Amino acid sequence: IWSHVPPAPEDAILGLTLAYEADSHPLKVNLGVGAYRDDDGAPVVLPSVREAERRLLQSRLGMEYLPVAGDARFRYNALRMALCSLDDDSAREAYGTFHESQLPPAATVQTLSGTGALRLAAEFLRRFAPRTDSAASTSTSPSVVCLPQPTWSNHPSVFRDAGLPTMSYRYYDGQRRTVDIDGMLHDLVYRAPPHSVVLLHACAHNPTGTDLNRQQWQRVLEVFAERRRDLLALFDMAYQGFATGDADRDAAAVRSFVRALSAGGEHGCAGRVLLAQSFSKNFGVYGHRVGALTLFTEDDAAAAAVESQLKLIARPMYSNPPLHGARLVNTVLEDAALTQQWRQDVRQMADRIRQMRAQLRQLLEASLPTQNHHPSTWSPITDQVGMFCYSGLQPEQVDRLRREFHVYLTRDGRISMAGVTRANVAYLAHALATVTDP
Ligand code: PMP
Repeated sequence: IWSHVPPAPEDAILGLTLAYEADSHPLKVNLGVGAYRDDDGAPVVLPSVREAERRLLQSRLGMEYLPVAGDARFRYNALRMALCSLDDDSAREAYGTFHESQLPPAATVQTLSGTGALRLAAEFLRRFAPRTDSAASTSTSPSVVCLPQPTWSNHPSVFRDAGLPTMSYRYYDGQRRTVDIDGMLHDLVYRAPPHSVVLLHACAHNPTGTDLNRQQWQRVLEVFAERRRDLLALFDMAYQGFATGDADRDAAAVRSFVRALSAGGEHGCAGRVLLAQSFSKNFGVYGHRVGALTLFTEDDAAAAAVESQLKLIARPMYSNPPLHGARLVNTVLEDAALTQQWRQDVRQMADRIRQMRAQLRQLLEASLPTQNHHPSTWSPITDQVGMFCYSGLQPEQVDRLRREFHVYLTRDGRISMAGVTRANVAYLAHALATVTDP
């Protein structure tokens, strides 16, 4: 009875890992998957998380179901990590830090990591987001989700499968290798239909590694603060701590939006911010599926109603979220010393990636002295932040890297810097220099 079912194409990113694993070449390099690796190319469990695990094991906790909305302490810790400083340090005001006593009204639920948070948001938006007026006056259609061009390859599918139409807004200027801020603002102001939901990468944009600067965020925020357009901001924060090595600094954009567009905010447009958080990368708990979705609301009554609806969506989908990863995060974030250790762990990951960026660029520039390359050819490697380098390699060059050098990356030229190590960086530079030799 299933003979009519066609085989589905392999996921672009996960398929790459399968191909890499099947390759027996000794120098093969996997630059596809967005998971952190140490300088030996090995997966990492953070020391803070290991210690949390040890403590959890000792306390012989039960394994009952969590509530549908997840663990209450975890939900609070997730929101606190997004908005409040993890140090009691007033210098952190610079990053828009909230005090714990002044958290805005919000509904937070624990989710199946970042992907689950986005999907839950999408299901909620399809049911409850203000609808876009169509030209034919009486009929309305679901709100449109505007995605940056380019974006994480799973974003379009998450929203499409939830039944929401998507469109792209200009984000990255591949020629100038910067954010196309004018194009972005133009698209949000003139092309996004009123009530659109705009997905924003909170930091360490995937795949371009190119974030808005402070002034650019401010200009974007002004578009959201404009009542006439009624845009909603959906932040995807999958890399808090990975962009700069500092979790507070990486949350600054989210905090500025929440401050301006929440109850008591200066613009009177409360409830325009949604936040999807993933703990996969910054806690290295990929397989434990730890995440949270927060909807900021105009008041506590709205928060309670929103939370009840999120539970109604979650219950028939997956019933309740997993236990262990949330406990690990709680154990780290509720202990001052472990929190400090975790900050150091994240900084160490970010630093190693930065060092590899510097080394790769240096080797590439040194290997190409005679070529008439523009001096800025390789500068994006160090200008970009987070786990990825958007190299500008063409699909044929990516194919050649795989064929001739056993180096695996997605055909859009995205290099996962986590896969670069002191042992393979010279080989990689040689491979890149060869395939880009004009
Ligand atoms: N958003 C972005 C931009 C991502 O890069 C990722 C992970 N690759 C996610 C969300 C979700 O990851 P997870 O479901 O593992 O938390």
